[in-house]
Amino acid sequence: AAKGEGKGRCQLFHQQMDIDYHYRQRLKADLREAVAAGALSLVFQPLLDISSHRVVSCEALARWTHPELGPIPPATFIPLAEEMGIISEITAFVVRSAVAECSQWAGEIGVAVNVSGRDFRGLDLPGLVDEALAESGLSAPRLELEVTETAVIEETALAQSVLESLSARGISIALDDFGTGYSSLSYLSALPFNKLKIDRSFVQDIAEDERALSLLANVARLGRDLELTVVAEGVETEDQLHAMLKHTGIQQVQGYFFSRPLPARDIAELISHLNSQTSPLLPAKRKHG
Ligand code: C2E
Ligand code: MG
Ligand code: MG
Ligand code: MG
Repeated sequence: AAKGEGKGRCQLFHQQMDIDYHYRQRLKADLREAVAAGALSLVFQPLLDISSHRVVSCEALARWTHPELGPIPPATFIPLAEEMGIISEITAFVVRSAVAECSQWAGEIGVAVNVSGRDFRGLDLPGLVDEALAESGLSAPRLELEVTETAVIEETALAQSVLESLSARGISIALDDFGTGYSSLSYLSALPFNKLKIDRSFVQDIAEDERALSLLANVARLGRDLELTVVAEGVETEDQLHAMLKHTGIQQVQGYFFSRPLPARDIAELISHLNSQTSPLLPAKRKHG
């Protein structure tokens, strides 16, 4: 029986591999079509200044709704697009649309776009950015590009020259998902970063676990020492926010506690809603009332 079972399991395993293979091939073909047809869309998630509780910028996040399979997460389709060599088309679309949207928002609220390591080679990023800014009239400091550690490690020399040329234009550069990647700290001071986004895995347990909180505080201190704006990703609860505010030097926060990513049409309302609230944690800061 054991032998038969083993064989059955083995067959199942191969069937699963076939399904995965065919599923991926189908996704790839459909993604190529969707990108060519301009069928991807964007959602935006606000980043708030922790002490003033005001929206400082929004991160643009790509969305793909497959006509039959429904929403496919970016964690699935972005790596596929990288593999297929079409990520730069997505980046170009995201930069253009995000910049155009941001130019409609009130005040000085900025927009952040995620850039892939492949874009350093596959795309004229400075040229794309110049064009998008010129078309929309948005000023360079309102655009931020987010790169991951892995992206800069894969293409160190190229990343350095591209990021420096963007930085010289006044574009802000953020290091995304900090702490999850390669974590050689040497490139942190070598590359022109303005912002450190600490990965949400460092935030998850801080309300219950003192060691987790201390770790977050120390990562934040590292960022502050390097004169970077320090952001915490993935803030989901008021307790996490409270712990952060009390025990870390974190300056900006992003997460479901404030808002999920939303389509562009809802952003103006969301910004004015968030800005009209005073943080319950900062009773002394209210101007009146
Ligand atoms: P990321 O750049 O670190 O973006 C933040 C991700 O965390 C988003 O997931 C966002 O929805 C999610 N998030 C925000 N707040 C919370 C929270 O409180 N709790 C939890 N659990 N998650 C939260 P999303 O949109 O699924 O994107 C995943 C990743 O896919 C992004 O991580 C980014 O690396 C990549 N990605 C998304 N859009 C693009 C794009 O246009 N271009 C490129 N190259 N990558 C993209
Ligand atoms: Mg990001
Ligand atoms: Mg991130
Ligand atoms: Mg992340």
